[in-house]
Amino acid sequence: MQTLQSYVVGQWMAGSGQGSTLENPTTGEHVATCSTEGVDFGAVVRHAREVGGPALRAMTFAERAAMLKGLSAAIHEIREELIDMGAVNGGNTRGDAKFDVDGATGTLAAYASFGKRLGDRPFLPDGDGLQLGRTARFWGQHIRVPRRGVAVHINAFNFPAWGMMEKAACALLAGVPVIEKPGAATSLMAWRIAQVVVESGLVPEGAFQFICGSAGDLLDHLDGQDCVAFTGSAATGRIIRGNPNLTANNVRVNIEADSINAAVLAPDVDASSETYGLFVGNVVLDMCQKAGQKCTAVRRVFVPEDRMDEVQADLIAELARYPMGEPQEKTTRLGPVAHSAQLADVQAGIGRLSEVAEVVHGGAESPREGCFVSPTILRASDADEDVLHELEVFGPVFTLIPYDGTAERAAELVNRGGGGLVVSAYFAEDAWGERFVVDAAPYHGRIWMGSERMAEQALPPGMVLPALVHGGPGRAGGGEELGALRGLEFYTQRTAIQGFKSFVAGHFGPLDPAE
Ligand code: NAP
Repeated sequence: MQTLQSYVVGQWMAGSGQGSTLENPTTGEHVATCSTEGVDFGAVVRHAREVGGPALRAMTFAERAAMLKGLSAAIHEIREELIDMGAVNGGNTRGDAKFDVDGATGTLAAYASFGKRLGDRPFLPDGDGLQLGRTARFWGQHIRVPRRGVAVHINAFNFPAWGMMEKAACALLAGVPVIEKPGAATSLMAWRIAQVVVESGLVPEGAFQFICGSAGDLLDHLDGQDCVAFTGSAATGRIIRGNPNLTANNVRVNIEADSINAAVLAPDVDASSETYGLFVGNVVLDMCQKAGQKCTAVRRVFVPEDRMDEVQADLIAELARYPMGEPQEKTTRLGPVAHSAQLADVQAGIGRLSEVAEVVHGGAESPREGCFVSPTILRASDADEDVLHELEVFGPVFTLIPYDGTAERAAELVNRGGGGLVVSAYFAEDAWGERFVVDAAPYHGRIWMGSERMAEQALPPGMVLPALVHGGPGRAGGGEELGALRGLEFYTQRTAIQGFKSFVAGHFGPLDPAE
C-alpha cells in the first residue's frame, strides 16, 4: 500500500504511526495511508513565514499571476491521472473528477488573469483617495498589503483538487505563503497535485507546504499576521473557531461550512417551459454529481402544493439519465459516496428524514456492494418540520416540500436553513423574483435565478465561479471566498494612509488607467 507524504520545510516526509487509511469506496480496498505524526508544525509555520513569505513578496502581482498560470498548465498536464485517482480514492465518476480537477485549473487560470493587471507595486490601492481637510492638502487613501504571516488552508474531503487550489490561488496571488491540508480520506489526488506544484519549481520554496494527515497542533503556532481558511462541517468549524490560540491572537478565520441549500419552483412556471426543464435538470444534476457530496447541492426542493405529484414524477423520470455504476465506466453518472463512514452518515440521515417525510424514491439500503447510495427523494407534507431545515444529508438525497406559491413564504422557508451557500429559484414573473431575492438575500451568499431567458447559457447553481463570491452567513460558516479580487482581501491588510496629497496620492493612489 502506498504511503502518502507531507511536503514540509523543504522536504517530503512520511509521518510515523498509524495515521489515516484511504479507501476505494467501490471495492472497499485500502489504497494508501498518511500520517503527520512527528511533523514539527512550529518549524513548518516558521519556514513559511521566514522563507516562503519574503520570496513571494519579492515577486510582483504580475509575476505571481504568471506563476498561477504555470501551475494551472502543469496540473492540467496530469488531468487523466488525476481523474483516475478521483475514481480510486473518492468514487468520482469521470464527470465528477473533471468537475473537481478542471475547477482547480480553471480557478488558477482565472486568478492568473485577474492578477496580471495589478501592476508591479507591492500593494494594491483600495478605492479612491479622499479629501480629509478643509482643502485637498490633507488626503487619505486605503491600501492593501500582503500580511506577513502564513495562510493555513484546511479542506473537506469532497473537492481535493478544487478545494485546495481555489484557496491557494487567492493567497499566493496576494503574496502569502500557504500550508495546505486536504481532507485525509481522499487526499490521494491532493497529494499528487502537491507533487506537481513542488516539482514545477514555479512556487518559491516555503510558499507552498502540504500536510497529508492530521493538522496536529498546527493552529497553536499561529499569530495575528496568520490566517486560517477552513472548509468542512459546521461541527469542525466550531472547534476551529473556538481554538484558544486563534482567539487569543485574533487570528483571521474564514469558515466555509455546510448548508441546507434549496431550490424553489415558482407557481407561474409552466411545465412545458424551458425554465421548468432547467429546474428538473439542475435539481437532479445536483443530486447525482459527486453523489450529492457538494456543499452547494440542493437538499430541499420547494414546490407549490398543487404541483407536488407532477414534479415528483418528473424528477424521478429525470433520474433515468444518471445510471449508477463503477465510477470508471464511461456510462456511469452516479458513483458511490467517498468512503464507508460517509455511507453510514448518509444512511443514518435518510433514516432521520424519513421520520418526518415519506421516501418516494430510493431509500437507505445500499443497492449494491461498496459505498453506493440509491438516489433518494423524500416527500414532506409539513414544511415546518425543523429537521428538514437543519439536517444536511451529504449524499444523493433531497426532500420535496410543499409551499403556498408566494415568494414571501418561499423565502421564509429557505431562510430557515439558518444561512446558506446558494439558493436557486425558477420563476417567470419578475415581481415574484424580485420579492424573493430581497427576502432571501440576507440569508444567502448566492442566489441563482433560473429563467428561460438565460437557460441556454446558464451554468448550474451548484457550480462555484471564481468571479463571484462563495460562502454564506450563519449555518454556512459566515465566510466568504473568491469573488475575483475580493478573494485577496482575507490575505491582505487594509491600511488607511493619511498625509499630504502629493505624497499619499502620488505614491499610493490608484494608477492612471492610461499608464
Ligand atoms: P470535516 O470532517 O469537518 O473535515 C474537514 C477538514 O477539517 C478535514 O481536512 C479534517 O481533517 C479537518 N479537521 C477535522 N478536525 C479538525 C481539527 N480539530 N483541527 C483541524 N482540522 C480538523 O468535513 P468533511 O467530512 O471533510 O467534509 C464534509 C463537509 O464539508 C460537509 O458538511 C460539507 O457541507 C462541507 N463542505 C463545505 C464547503 C463550503 O464551501 N462551504 C465545501 C465543501 C464541503 P481530516 O480529514 O484529517 O480529519
